[in-house]
Amino acid sequence: MKYRSTRGGMAPLPFCDILLEGLAPDGGLSLPETLPQLDADTLESWRGLSYADLAAQVLGLFIDDIPADDLLRMTRAAYAPDVFPQIAPVKPLRPGLALLGLSEGPTLAFKDMAMQFLGQVFEYVLDQRGQTLNILGATSGDTGSAAEYALRGKRGVAVFMLSPQGRMSAFQRAQMYSLQDANIHNIAVRGVFDECQDIVKALAGDLDFKSTHHLGAVNSINWARIAAQIVYYVWGWLRATQGPGQQVSFAVPSGNFGNILAGHLARRMGVPIHRLVLATNENNVLEEFFRTGVYRPRPASQTYATSSPSMDISRASNFERFVFDLVGQDAARVRALMAELQQTGQFDLSALKPQFTERYGFVAGASSHADRLTTIRAIHDETGVLIDPHTADGVKVAQAHLEPGIPMLVLETALPAKFAETILEATGQAPAVPAALQDLQQRPQRVETMDCDARQVADYLHRHAL
Ligand SMILES: *Cc1c(COP(=O)(O)O)cnc(C)c1O
Repeated sequence: MKYRSTRGGMAPLPFCDILLEGLAPDGGLSLPETLPQLDADTLESWRGLSYADLAAQVLGLFIDDIPADDLLRMTRAAYAPDVFPQIAPVKPLRPGLALLGLSEGPTLAFKDMAMQFLGQVFEYVLDQRGQTLNILGATSGDTGSAAEYALRGKRGVAVFMLSPQGRMSAFQRAQMYSLQDANIHNIAVRGVFDECQDIVKALAGDLDFKSTHHLGAVNSINWARIAAQIVYYVWGWLRATQGPGQQVSFAVPSGNFGNILAGHLARRMGVPIHRLVLATNENNVLEEFFRTGVYRPRPASQTYATSSPSMDISRASNFERFVFDLVGQDAARVRALMAELQQTGQFDLSALKPQFTERYGFVAGASSHADRLTTIRAIHDETGVLIDPHTADGVKVAQAHLEPGIPMLVLETALPAKFAETILEATGQAPAVPAALQDLQQRPQRVETMDCDARQVADYLHRHAL
């Protein structure tokens, strides 16, 4: 299994060689040269597997440069009961509608599912190569904490995570800043998220600095994260069906298009998925694309701060991988579209619209703050289950695409405890905090505060990098 770039300018490389890289050298994103295919017999033979053992099977299709027993050891560590007390449970809401619980990990959001595997495989590959890596990133909440919980205490790797001072919830701050591991460095920047991101881009873009300090990233374009996410589509299908060929639909609260891209790949691999229902909030760039065929990312000034904040994105960083499939894997066409996007701020694939729905099964919808409140309240009144605002966007849009005889699984991308304010607004009561996190906000915090100045961050890295 070798990997190529969506823009056609990278010599094929094995998994371990693309693992630690961000963008391909030609500016594209890596994808397997051919997608493994799953027949009905293989899927049926996996029904009895635990999540960890299923993950080793599925990931093994994409990773042939790590021995199978090492991979199994890693998935068993990543998906162990002390990390995920429950693993991807199906939680029924109504007949034909259920949640797939992806937020049972340490940071209460779905990013733990992929990031915990990433933590294992980073440590393994760095060990084998005798290398060190310093992860530099910026976060407005979920990604940074998922990365820190996955990489804390791991050999050969340190994390330097920039966050905008005073812009995260008290819960999110406590989650990150209470980590005391020596390889975790939280840096609160006196600025907004975009300014944190600019500092990361400036330092990672300085190739001398980058190679001297072995800088790396764990952002949502990382292929290993996408591969690890394919596992729970297979798992969800196995849990929601009894036999071969039965169809299931998935509804996915979307931002950077990483989560639903994994669903698209699972479907192309042969998992019997009927619809992939893409849900956005008021930042509806992706919903607009699936409705009109025009992709028109918004400037930061038109990206709204909503009550499902992890979906407040203006440009979907994984979308290029889907476009590559849409245009028949024609890398030259991808390059032309990306150049057009840069020059004109949009591109138009409306001529390919039948492909989205008929060939690839995509439908989309947008949800608003009022929709979230109504949905959280209705589901709670009816079933007693509390859902978080992102999951509520998914449930809202899923309801418009229910079809008789086809179970709909809505991916639960966070737990309500993380977004208490909106839950309180919707239901009049605060969500329960999991027992293990009840003292979280009382724990001592460890954070460096800095001005919005790349030189200060560079200096800190220089002193603390591995
Ligand atoms: C990251 C995130 C999303 C969006 O997922 P993408 O892969 O970026 O589409 C949705 N909900 C929550 C809670 C998230 O943390």
